[in-house]
Amino acid sequence: MTEYDFDLFIIGAGSGGVRAGRLAAQLGKRVAVAEESLPGGTCVVRGCVPKKYLVYGADYGASLREAAQYGWSTGEVSFDWPTLRDAIQKEVSRLSGIYGNILEKNGATLYRERAVFVDAHTLRLTTSGKTVTAKTILVAVGGYPWTPNIKGAEHAIVSDDAFTLEALPDRALVIGGGYIACEFAGIYAGLGVTTTQAYRGDKLLNGFDEEVREQVGALQVNNKIDVKYKVSPTEIKKTSGGYIVTFDDGSKIGTDVVFMATGRKPNTETLGLEKAGVKVDGSGAIVVDAYSKSSAKNIYAVGDVTNRVNLTPVAIREAVAFIETVFKKNKTAYDHSNIASAVFTRPPVGSVGLSEEEARRTHGDDITIYATDFRPMKNALSGNPHRVLMKLITQGEKETVIGIHMVGDYSGEIIQALGICVKAGLTKADFDATCAVHPTLAEEIVTLKARES
Ligand code: NDP
Repeated sequence: MTEYDFDLFIIGAGSGGVRAGRLAAQLGKRVAVAEESLPGGTCVVRGCVPKKYLVYGADYGASLREAAQYGWSTGEVSFDWPTLRDAIQKEVSRLSGIYGNILEKNGATLYRERAVFVDAHTLRLTTSGKTVTAKTILVAVGGYPWTPNIKGAEHAIVSDDAFTLEALPDRALVIGGGYIACEFAGIYAGLGVTTTQAYRGDKLLNGFDEEVREQVGALQVNNKIDVKYKVSPTEIKKTSGGYIVTFDDGSKIGTDVVFMATGRKPNTETLGLEKAGVKVDGSGAIVVDAYSKSSAKNIYAVGDVTNRVNLTPVAIREAVAFIETVFKKNKTAYDHSNIASAVFTRPPVGSVGLSEEEARRTHGDDITIYATDFRPMKNALSGNPHRVLMKLITQGEKETVIGIHMVGDYSGEIIQALGICVKAGLTKADFDATCAVHPTLAEEIVTLKARES
């Protein structure tokens, strides 16, 4: 029998890799993890976590401005970017340290360098030049921000750069209409930056429920973001006073920072996957079966590198299912249906299950839409014009809830609990039977009336 250096070698110490590494090490397996950047991955180091802190930072500004209506006099309000930036980086370092420690404390070996395939059981560590072998290999390398190859693209920043900017710009131009573009436009505007968001489509957040998309378009405008639709950048030119971006309709925008949020791609290009017989699809994602197994029988992949549902908690669930399947003799396929998620616009979006459009495509007329759009009580005093959208979609005579969508304060928190209801297959009658918690935003979800069609 071949003796390998490790039972499991994991490439990437992000959300998926660290969870798999810890669980395998706790089972007594000989585990190694290679990470070329900081442990914690995109989520902890340059994604969800520092982003959420920036959202909190922007929200404090809005609260200070609105506080006067609640009787507070806050005097002259100012914002210091280095204070927030450095506080976030300090917290990110602390969390990254915890991620590294989790692995090492449980007996896993952490190589702080890049690993590439030599063959299906062998990896080369590119800094030390060391070669290691493993019986099973898990690829959990995530993705990277992709940008279109336009003239002057090198002048743009991407989400990786946004957290450590030397100075906050006076003007920012965010390109894209997806999660990252909408979130960062909201952050910049909230921090007092003159913000433009330029999107090639006609409604932000492609793929979301159409009413959510309209509401998000309105809230970006309420947040003083100048949203330009149906434009794609063709050139970025550096000038003495910043950048001029030209669009395909001939229009030009002057700005101090161009932030490209034009999607992410799996990080597979230089991993040597072909040497190990691991197939990738047209987007560069590792092709896996329901058990996260690749086309090579001892190589698995979880998280964004597989481009299934690119969210941290999903990578973690896929990692847990991988450990069950490979190391606990309990074949487990993670069920990707009804995953709740939030977009941290200000206020945020919460969404689970099918949009109205998806529900109609799948179930035709066999659906009922319940919706409300109202001014939350907090805003009646503060003067903030944001409205809350709440929408619930049911299917069939039993009225099983198959989708819930919200835009409004605390949507990210509320949708987590509503996600349980949808996952559990609850019906509208279950919602109706639940007593409201008053006065809250969330109570509206148990008193919704069917929309007149
Ligand atoms: P998205 O896929 O959400 O958005 C990419 C945007 O870029 C879209 O609006 C797309 O337009 C646009 N775009 C693509 N190509 C071009 C081009 N050539 N020129 C102009 N515009 C272009 O990607 P993000 O980078 O925002 O986020 C990546 C993923 O990360 C998300 O899908 C999500 O899974 C995850 N994420 C989750 C978060 C959360 O849970 N809160 C936060 C951040 C990221 P179009 O719509 O027309 O295709």
